[in-house]
Amino acid sequence: MVASTYETRLFINNEYVTAKSSETLSLTNPFDGSGVDAPVQVAGEEDVDIAVAAAEAAFKSGPWSTYTGAQRAKCMLKFADLLEANLQELAGLDTLTMGAPMGMGHFVIPGAAQTFRYYAGWADKIEGESFAADDGTYKIIRHEPLGVCAGIAAWNAPILYVGWKVAPALAAGNTFIFKSSEKSPLSALVLGKLVIEAGFPPGVIQFLSGGGKTGALLASHMKISKISFTGSTITGKKVQKLALDSNMKSCTLELGGKSPALVFDDANIPNAVGSTADGFLINSGQVCVAGSRLLVQEAIAPAFIEAVKERFAAISATLGTDPSGGASMQGPMADEAQFNRVMSYIDLGKKFSAPVIGGNRKGDKGFFIEPTLFINPDLKGKVFSEEIFGPVLSIVTFKTEEEAIEMANDTATGLSATVYTSDITRALRVSAKIDSGNVSINAPHLPSVQAPFGGFKESGNGKELGKYGLQSYLKTKTVLINMKL
Ligand code: NDP
Repeated sequence: MVASTYETRLFINNEYVTAKSSETLSLTNPFDGSGVDAPVQVAGEEDVDIAVAAAEAAFKSGPWSTYTGAQRAKCMLKFADLLEANLQELAGLDTLTMGAPMGMGHFVIPGAAQTFRYYAGWADKIEGESFAADDGTYKIIRHEPLGVCAGIAAWNAPILYVGWKVAPALAAGNTFIFKSSEKSPLSALVLGKLVIEAGFPPGVIQFLSGGGKTGALLASHMKISKISFTGSTITGKKVQKLALDSNMKSCTLELGGKSPALVFDDANIPNAVGSTADGFLINSGQVCVAGSRLLVQEAIAPAFIEAVKERFAAISATLGTDPSGGASMQGPMADEAQFNRVMSYIDLGKKFSAPVIGGNRKGDKGFFIEPTLFINPDLKGKVFSEEIFGPVLSIVTFKTEEEAIEMANDTATGLSATVYTSDITRALRVSAKIDSGNVSINAPHLPSVQAPFGGFKESGNGKELGKYGLQSYLKTKTVLINMKL
């Protein structure tokens, strides 16, 4: 048998190992529908147990358990440099498996490196507290690592999620098991060799591949203390339930959204058009914070709609080229299932009214879909109320600020929102009333490593990034000392 060009094994205890399970994943290049010769090995129950045992040993008694914060930081900083040095290979693998344009890689990989550097800075700054023995008891409050933590990731930016989940966990002193998505497993597998090169001791980070079954094994494992999950709301609920029904492990859930973008008539129009049209179409709408419900104030709506249509037409004209070349930010749908899912929403929308642009497959190979714009769709219908995760935007008009806020909040999710206005007082007033974990003024929402990121309502719970992300990998212990003896 000819060996695959790609790394397809699991990475456990600083070694690439053959999975005990005999299952493999089959991958397709969504640019042209051709098969990718990479039978990625699936982690079954025994493999997950082996990975957990390695991570547990590293946490309890391996060299990592004695590392100072500064030693942990040294490995993390080296790892950040290695991520950037390997950008082309990592980004290229995400392009191959799920069609992410190389331009995305130039954003995602440095973003992950920046997250490792940010949390390396925290590794030797985890403080405790104390209270005087004024009542005869001296009180110490300590923040301690949780133990073995695991991450389960969505397919659209695997290396970014490695940064968001693994970096804070390691800064806090935990060990980690990361499961990528079955749609995009190749890039994370390459990271094993970077883990060794960065000097992490065995067992500190493992990379497993596999589908939902592997994820469920992690979520329900009795020796895993925390799951950080990025994915859909429907799967997030399952993960939360598995965690609860096993050992009540803590869960951070970064789930989907149907984010509103509110454009008021005093907005800087060229900026608002660029942010809501081009910004929405980054990665062809396969971004969790994409502003897929565009609410535009009535007076400016006709001109605004025309301007968005023009941007969609311009982007559509360049769509369909190989995402592995150039700096394009738009590619195909990640795979056939995602393509069919998005097309089914477009077909539903067409039953109410035809899109003013787009609505079809682009080209005759691969999984490209034309940027598609619906104006005033059925407000109770699925196109306007459910996450599509593709290049399908709806524009609805509003008269007053109150009406815009009501429409923005009329959704089960609350991941992010954007507000376009030149009136800063209005911007602050509206941002206070929007029921979303993240609000951006006059720009698409791009998470910042310094600030917490996470949704409200069915967009999940808990926060990643910033000091809040670090705290979610620590448990707080109280020690009381009787000073009267
Ligand atoms: P899914 O929910 O389908 O999958 C997410 C991860 O969960 C995958 O690794 C998947 O494995 C795994 N999984 C599937 N079933 C189970 C299970 N029963 N138990 C444990 N794990 C399971 O999401 P997608 O990958 O399709 O990603 C798109 C979704 O992610 C969108 O809803 C999007 O909004 C959301 N998202 C949220 C972000 C945020 O930060 N809030 C960021 C990016 C995306 P596999 O795929 O291998 O089957």
